[in-house]
Amino acid sequence: MSADTSPLETITPSAPVLHAPALPVPGPLGPTGRPVPEFPLPTAVRQHGPASVLAICNQKGGVGKTTTTINLGAALAETGRRVLLVDVDPQGALSVGLGINANILEATLHDLLLGTGGVGAPVAADVVVTTRVPGLDLLPSNIDLSAAEVLLVGEVGREHALARALRPLIPEYDVVLIDCQPSLGLLTVNALSAADGVLIPLECEYFALRGVALLLQTIERVTDRLNPRLELVGILATMHDGRTLHGREVLDRVLEAFPDKLFHTVISRTIRFPETTAAGEPITSYASSSAGAGAYRAVARELLARWPATSDADSGTGAASGAAQPHDTGGR
Ligand code: ADP
Ligand code: MG
Repeated sequence: MSADTSPLETITPSAPVLHAPALPVPGPLGPTGRPVPEFPLPTAVRQHGPASVLAICNQKGGVGKTTTTINLGAALAETGRRVLLVDVDPQGALSVGLGINANILEATLHDLLLGTGGVGAPVAADVVVTTRVPGLDLLPSNIDLSAAEVLLVGEVGREHALARALRPLIPEYDVVLIDCQPSLGLLTVNALSAADGVLIPLECEYFALRGVALLLQTIERVTDRLNPRLELVGILATMHDGRTLHGREVLDRVLEAFPDKLFHTVISRTIRFPETTAAGEPITSYASSSAGAGAYRAVARELLARWPATSDADSGTGAASGAAQPHDTGGR
């Protein structure tokens, strides 16, 4: 589908703020008021797996977690990476947003979390479904997952149920993105325990930072008690309106709080995202040349540059040479 650019998608650079850029290469000022580095084009992946696991987490609802999971996942898949999206929200919005009806599937993540592993129990590979995007798979969920959360409370190793469920899939993928539910309950703790990194989407509105301290405290506790490899990879500003003073003020405040962690790429508010949910596909295919699709491709590039865990051991992400080939399924 051809795309146009809504005026809402135009980003107006705001006044510079005095913080050192996270990455040293100077460039034109971006929406966060810092010079935007030239993020290298992702290099092709020569060998798949093992995956780096990124939890997309914020206990606030409606901040763009699911939208980011779908569209960042699709943008990463476009670079030739094999990507698995994991729906850890009983609302099942991730599955819906990919056009998959998780209510008619024989098995969902719920079955893996509670599975005994005995004869006839579903194994991870049976539960994964493919999407219409090449290289992008989904571990779907529906409302059954809320029952799993209750039942898990009584289990031994309850915080590691998701990590156990994902283990056989890690060698098959390059990146796993976990879409968390809007709470800091047991399912989110499971997501953080299974992850190598966390990405926090923040809606650009006045109370954007409210609750973030509690989220950071939870991340710190999980790092301390359950998963020492967990790191905060970044903060992604979403639903930004660069035309308003308010939108720019919010970005300034977030930058002041997280000078190194705020992504240079900012997602603007645009009606194209709700449209894509209704269409059941990522914006990268629904409106491939839209500003929204470009923004999530830029998030993918910035993620690969910021997070060494995702760089390909053979080719690395540091070299601008050798842009990614279209989805490469070689070696599988
Ligand atoms: P969460 O998963 O954090 O609850 P969602 O990704 O489901 O948030 O987004 C909440 C709503 O906002 C959805 O209807 C989605 O389509 C819409 N939305 C997400 N990102 C944007 C954006 N950048 N501009 C406009 N609407 C958006
Ligand atoms: Mg969601």
